[in-house]
Formats: sequence, C-alpha cells, structure tokens
Amino acid sequence: MRGLYVDGAWADPHGGTLDVLDPTTEESIGAVALGDAGDVDRAVRAAARAFPGWSRTPERERLGHVREIGRLIGLHLDELTELIVADLGMPRAMARDAQVAAPAQIFTMAADLAEGFSAPSPVPGAAADTLVVREPAGVVGAITPWNFPLQEIAAKTAPALAVGCTVVVKPSEIVPMAALRLAELIDAAGLPPGVFNLVPGTGPVAGAALAAHPLVDMVSFTGSTVTGALVAEAAGRGVKKVALEMGGKSPCVLLDDAPLETAVPDTVMNAFFNSGQTCNALTRLLVPRARLPEAEKLAVAAAESNVVGDPRDAETTLGPLVSRRQLERVLGYVRRGGGRLITGDRALPERGFFAAPAVFTEVPPDAVLATEEIFGPVLCLQAYEGEDEAVALAGASPYGLSAAVWSADRERASRVARRIRAGQVHINGAGFDLGAPFGGFRQSGHGREGGRYGLEEFTQPKALLGGVVT
Ligand code: NAD
Repeated sequence: MRGLYVDGAWADPHGGTLDVLDPTTEESIGAVALGDAGDVDRAVRAAARAFPGWSRTPERERLGHVREIGRLIGLHLDELTELIVADLGMPRAMARDAQVAAPAQIFTMAADLAEGFSAPSPVPGAAADTLVVREPAGVVGAITPWNFPLQEIAAKTAPALAVGCTVVVKPSEIVPMAALRLAELIDAAGLPPGVFNLVPGTGPVAGAALAAHPLVDMVSFTGSTVTGALVAEAAGRGVKKVALEMGGKSPCVLLDDAPLETAVPDTVMNAFFNSGQTCNALTRLLVPRARLPEAEKLAVAAAESNVVGDPRDAETTLGPLVSRRQLERVLGYVRRGGGRLITGDRALPERGFFAAPAVFTEVPPDAVLATEEIFGPVLCLQAYEGEDEAVALAGASPYGLSAAVWSADRERASRVARRIRAGQVHINGAGFDLGAPFGGFRQSGHGREGGRYGLEEFTQPKALLGGVVT
C-alpha cells in the first residue's frame, strides 16, 4: 500500500509494515507502511514550511480547496465505503452514511462556515477600536482512532485547513486504508505541497513523535483517555495548544413519563451502532424502578432483533468487532459481569471477531460494567427513584461526553438535560448534528469539534488595539 504522503508526494516510510486484517474473514487485506520519528519530522517540517503561504492564501481560494476535498469524497462514496467495510467491519449502508457521506459534508460545511470567519470584529467590554481577529493555530498534529477512520480525520482536517492551519495526520494503524485513499483524494484536490501530510504509523512511535515535535503548534487527539493523557503530557512539555476528544460511558435517562416503546429500542440501536465501538454510545440506560421490567423486556427484544453477520449482507445490522484484541477485551467484560445478564447468548459466525449483543440489568453503580468504557455491544440497565437520583447516576462515571433524556414533556426533559454534565445531551431521540459542538467534560476531554465551534478550536484570538477594519 501507499507509504507516507509528505510535502505533496508519496514516499517510502522507515518504520516497517503492519498487516491489515478484514475482521469479518480474519484474512489479510494488505499491509500498511509505518512511519518512524524521522518520517514524522519530515512531515512536520513540510507543514511548517507551507504554513506562512497557506495561512495568507486568499480565503476564497483556500476554501475552494476545502470544498473540493468534500466533493471528491462524495464522488468516491462507494469505493471509500468498501474500504471501511473491509477494514472495520461496519455494515455497508451504515458505513456509507456515517463513515463517508458525513466526512464529505464536514469538509463542505467547514468551507461554508469559514467564510468571513477571520474578519476583525469588536468585542463587548473592550474599547471601541479594539478588534479581534481569529488567527490559525499553526501546524496541527492530528492523531486519530480506528472506529470512525475518515470522520475523525475530517473533523480535524476540514476546520484546520479552512482557517489556514497546515496539518500532519497520524491515522490509526489498525484501520488505515480509507485514510490512505483520502490522502490520494486530497492530493487530487490540488492543495499546495506540505499543507496536508499523512504519516501512518504506530502510536508509541509516530504518534508520540508528532505530539512532542517542537514545530507542532497544536495537537488535536481523538482516542482513549489513557492515550490522551500521554499525548497531553508530551504536548504540554512543548507548551502546545491541545484538544482532546476521548472516551465515554454515556447515560440515557428515561424519565417516568417517557415513551418506553420508542425510547428503549432507540437507545439499544444507539448503544450497538458500529458494534458498540462509538465514543458517544449510550451504554447506560437509567430507568425508573417501577418501569424496569417493561424496559428490560423491550431492551431484550431490541437487542435480539439485531442481525449479526457479514457487513456486506444488506440485512446485517451488527458486524464484527475491529480485531481479536478488541473482541477479547469485550468478552472479558461480559464474563466478569455485574448485575444480571438478560440477553447475550446466540450462535455467531464461525469466522470473524463477532460478539453477541449483550444486555445486563440492575447493574450496581460502582460495577466495572457501569463505569468503564467497554467499546463493544454491551448495554447496562440501572434503576433509579426520582429525578435527583437519575441525575446523580448519570454523573456516576468519570466521563462526560454524551447523554440522552426522554420524557413526554420536552420542557421537563430539557430541564433535566441542563443538569447533566456532558458535552451533548440528546432530547427525545434527536439525532447526531454535524454542526453542533462535540466534545467532553471531565475525562472525556476538552476542546470541541463540529460546526462553528470546531473552526474556533483551530484558531487563536488576536487583539488589534486601536485597529481599523481593512
Ligand atoms: P487509542 O487511544 O488506542 O489510539 C488513538 C490514536 O492514538 C491512534 O492513532 C494510536 O496509534 C495513537 N497512539 C497510541 N499511543 C500513542 C502515544 N503514546 N502517543 C501518541 N499517539 C498514540 O484509541 P483507539 O483504540 O484507536 O480508539 C478508541 C478510543 O477512542 C475509545 O476510547 C473511544 O471512546 C475514543 N474515541 C473518542 C471520540 C471522541 O470524539 N470523543 C471519537 C472516537 C473514538
């Protein structure tokens, strides 16, 4: 497979190769070339050289390139989808929408929102002739995970390029194929050399080198909390700007008047989306004690209605987990248990890293199952008495990425949503919004991606004291 994309050209990396497996067949589908610290250094230097020119490129021209990337992703929807199906194992139709169409839209949206974004503007509380401009943060090192291989790159690269940053991406080494194809498309979009660079490689080698590189101005990381803390430490030593998008253990609160027949299947579907390998998955369903038996029945039915199998079959809703390692990790949690398992046993395909969707009920708040991110198709039901206990239970994890609230009364649901410490709260099944700020409280990280807040993240405010609009 392609090697490194650095300074507008493909090059051979120096860190060996890694076999890439199809998690459905367990067969090799190629090998990815790995970059080492020297390769990262070349990429960062190219990005640093390109920065002055790119950041001063007229907005119209710069955003034209960003829009073109979105258009090219859209043109290659089927091809990119097939790569993700083979590499990650997500069912095809879901992968097409969530993993490819969405990233295309992120580039288009970033270009639209960035129009006029950097124009000088006055600020409340400052002198009338104090103007603030948003300056690009500089060279961005982007480190991304495997579960949304294109989306996570798009969420960083699109706004960063749109506001005038240059970028070095270190994609996940586990699911690298779509990222490599994306680099080819970005090349075809005609960006000046060095503006976008891609260095595949392992975390401890290429990722660590990128986080610590002295010419990187900002590190934007998405991945696990453990790795994020290491990245922040390395970046902190160089006093870099850091944005961290990390894990979650997100709660869905069903208030006592919630329409369970809609809310429970919706939550089960959300929890098992991408085989549960989603950072904002609603993995804890909090139910009024009096309604627990009803919720259990609905959750079992919804879980068992999933078709587990080949992601290339149209009726499949749940593909394999990404790797044997991930499968073993998830099965470890299921075996360890906590509360009562009410579904989770079914025949699975003989080959492939498949896990049966599992639902546990009456999971104690301090059980590992209820507090740790599992990243597999495992849902916990927990009972509560009264709104205060629901809010306390919702906050009883170290994370704060996402949450949901259901009630027959939207105002009541909105009031409860305001009490939950999470970056996003979905009310009555409202879907994911690419334009909304996305990010975490507490150990889910800091910084925001998505829409206008996502653009702001890749800038620094600069004050012009006594300035005039030019
Ligand atoms: P991970 O932390 O293992 O790896 C993420 C990235 O960091 C990979 O590119 C990896 O190579 C790199 N890395 C590993 N060690 C490193 C090091 N020492 N220095 C620098 N980089 C290093 O995470 P993963 O298993 O790829 O992804 C799953 C995790 O990502 C889950 O915890 C999930 O919740 C989280 N995630 C969060 C979001 C979000 O937006 N909040 C989105 C998707 C995934």
